[in-house]
Amino acid sequence: MFRILRNLILISLIFSGYYLFISEFFYLSENKFLEIEIVKNEIVENKKEIIQEKKEEVALPNTKKSIDKVQYVVKKIKILQGDTFVSILESLNFEQENIYEIISKIENLYDLKKIKTGEIISVFENSFGEIKKIEFFKNSETIISVDLDKEINLNIRELTKDSFIESKEYTITESLFSDGIKNGLSPDILVKIISLFSFDLDFQRDIRVDTVVSISYEFDEIIETGRLEYNDIKYASIIIDGKQLEYFKFITDDGYIDYFNREGKNVKKSILKTPLDGARISSNFGMRKHPISGFNKMHKGVDFAAPTGTPIYAGGNGIVEYVGRNGGYGKYIRIRHNNGYKTAYAHLSNYKKGISKGVRVNQGEVIGYVGSTGNSTGPHLHYEIIYQNKHINPLKLKLPSGKILEGKELESFKKEYKKIYADHLSMLYE
Ligand SMILES: [Zn+2]
Repeated sequence: MFRILRNLILISLIFSGYYLFISEFFYLSENKFLEIEIVKNEIVENKKEIIQEKKEEVALPNTKKSIDKVQYVVKKIKILQGDTFVSILESLNFEQENIYEIISKIENLYDLKKIKTGEIISVFENSFGEIKKIEFFKNSETIISVDLDKEINLNIRELTKDSFIESKEYTITESLFSDGIKNGLSPDILVKIISLFSFDLDFQRDIRVDTVVSISYEFDEIIETGRLEYNDIKYASIIIDGKQLEYFKFITDDGYIDYFNREGKNVKKSILKTPLDGARISSNFGMRKHPISGFNKMHKGVDFAAPTGTPIYAGGNGIVEYVGRNGGYGKYIRIRHNNGYKTAYAHLSNYKKGISKGVRVNQGEVIGYVGSTGNSTGPHLHYEIIYQNKHINPLKLKLPSGKILEGKELESFKKEYKKIYADHLSMLYE
């Protein structure tokens, strides 16, 4: 046992010696000291990952004068798989009885089992290497601070936030996303813009070089961590071939955050629940006895009874991805929409001329005609909505309504959008 331990120490000495030699060699000038520091810490802390080490000035509690500011070295320890709060305190060389006391104090207020892998514990060391404070996040709004000076004291404090609005404008040379990143936009905001525009745009086809994107958005800065939290987009505009699409954020009277153009029309277009006129539902979505096979089977769509030849509309803007015979579906069309949705139309008597694979269709455009091809007992349209490859009930589809603002609501929207736009311009060009 002793020999193993001795060998281990010997090996680690050889390795750290070798590492120090290498680092001496490569970091002769700057950073030399820092490198050695980190190597030392890694050995002490059982290879615990130190993601950041920096000096921070932290005011002592209950002090008013700046003389009382103490220089701490703050070590950020990332909790790895298999770590416990105990094992972390052990790796920081705490005595067992101190560990017990610290843990039981914290457990009075907080269940330490809730700490997850990947979270960060900040350890504050004074210039003598004594740990004076440990901090970790209770949740995204609260910090638990364990004071270790003389006696153990626990503080819970809210993180403080500052709110901001920011405006940016850029021209696309590559893609909306990559040029956005180059122009200092956060991926969080870019994802929101893409989902906002996805109701109107097909990113592969519509976005070309020299497309101008202009946006305004809200974010909070957490003072303690410097972390930024991105909130809603207030304004988004995209100009393609001289045509402008504009969205303004507005909270409707029924309390929904939604986006409207200057006319007060909701820019998000829903997928049609009924893609034909004058039809009646003859079979609903769900389990049913199949009219032909007699077996109980999941009916993955809605059937609309209508005379043969009744025109069928595209449920939304999109690209035709299938036209042709498809087993029991008979003559069949499937459209891929921009926002993860697909719609399918079965038992058609015929397709509209010009509808073929790869063709682009607009919502409400005629794509085919009601019939009774495939496994069908009479003329009807079998309509399916597929979201991320799962069938959903078209009649229960929860998509934005495509609301149009009217009356007083329209008046207050107009006031709101003018203010948003004026703020946006002044932030861009001030
Ligand atoms: Zn059906």
